[in-house]
Amino acid sequence: MDALDSAVKEIRETLPGLPLSEEEPMAKHSSFRIGGPVRAFAVPEDVTSFSRITHILKKHKLMPMVVGNCTNILFPDEGLKDLFIISTERMTRMFLLDDSRIYAEAGVSLSKLASFSCQHSLAGLEFASGIPGTVGGGVLMNAGAYGGEMKDVVESVVSYYLPEQKLYETPLENCGFGYRKSAFQTMAGCAIVSAVFRLEKGDRDEIAAKMKELNERRREKQPLDLPSAGSAFKRPEGYFAAKLIEECGLKGYTTGGAMVSEKHAGFVVNTGNACSHDVYDLMMHVRNTVWQMKGIELVPEIVILPPDYKLTDDSPSAPLHIISGSGPLSEADFSGAKE
Ligand SMILES: Cc1cc2nc3c(=O)[nH]c(=O)nc-3n(C[C@H](O)[C@H](O)[C@H](O)COP(=O)(O)OP(=O)(O)OC[C@H]3O[C@@H](n4cnc5c(N)ncnc54)[C@H](O)[C@@H]3O)c2cc1C
Repeated sequence: MDALDSAVKEIRETLPGLPLSEEEPMAKHSSFRIGGPVRAFAVPEDVTSFSRITHILKKHKLMPMVVGNCTNILFPDEGLKDLFIISTERMTRMFLLDDSRIYAEAGVSLSKLASFSCQHSLAGLEFASGIPGTVGGGVLMNAGAYGGEMKDVVESVVSYYLPEQKLYETPLENCGFGYRKSAFQTMAGCAIVSAVFRLEKGDRDEIAAKMKELNERRREKQPLDLPSAGSAFKRPEGYFAAKLIEECGLKGYTTGGAMVSEKHAGFVVNTGNACSHDVYDLMMHVRNTVWQMKGIELVPEIVILPPDYKLTDDSPSAPLHIISGSGPLSEADFSGAKE
């Protein structure tokens, strides 16, 4: 029996009602509909059971990966045999703190947060209503759209620091927010458990109309009928990734079941039977072509997990740069992601 077996056994005995599955296929959870089995997948209902799970894992010298709606992750087909995943999908408490602030747990979906805000005539979260992620994933990635970002509305974030088993409250000024980044990405073992949002008093009908307009724009421009993980690459400074990709003639380019969307060249979509390697190969081809033709480096926005991925005490919480370095890529750049 290895450490993971022992930890799973102890967690089952300590928390008998906890949904905890083994060999859980990640294709079931990922918005890409891609990904083999993860060794263990637990879904705690609140911060208390979350912390009890992590306490047992720590005892066995294990570190879990925390996920939200899995709308920004490419899981490997080979599966993740050394990984314990904790999903925040049941940590969904949300309430008003006063007339301009909302408290939301990590698993609250950004669309529910935006609707709740609208119901209470609070403006500022309209941009988030069509982003399919959660509060936790959104804060970690500083998710944004149509000129708004999480950093514009977050007042503070509560995170659970796994190595110390302690909760920390981080005010906005210490969150290290930048374009699709936050300080939480580089803090090993840092799980976001909740956030407080500060919003402006507004007119409920105007807020609802703005949300409707942005969602219509999204439906018109984005390939929402096919599985994806949103924009495949970050916006390079001074350019738009989708425009560069389109100018390189890559719209509709396919590798196996993965395709550069014909509707929006910034998206890589799963046309039905894509495997994770199709997506890696396609992203590598796009990145190389854009580098060769335009001299501009595209950096992935999607979190790409290699098959041997596991977390240790000094791992970053989000492995955002599995693809690293400037310029054309070689197979070696993907060595961690290949068999
Ligand atoms: C159709 C589509 C449209 C999209 N549009 C946009 C858009 O307009 N703007 C945008 O910014 N993004 C967009 N995305 C990408 C994605 O929805 C966002 O990045 C979102 O914030 C990810 O949230 P999540 O809960 O799904 O995170 P996940 O995909 O589950 O996780 C992403 C990363 O965050 C980490 N993480 C998740 N929760 C926690 C937590 N509680 N504590 C610590 N780490 C955590 C994970 O370990 C992982 O490293 C889109 C995706 C899709 C599929």
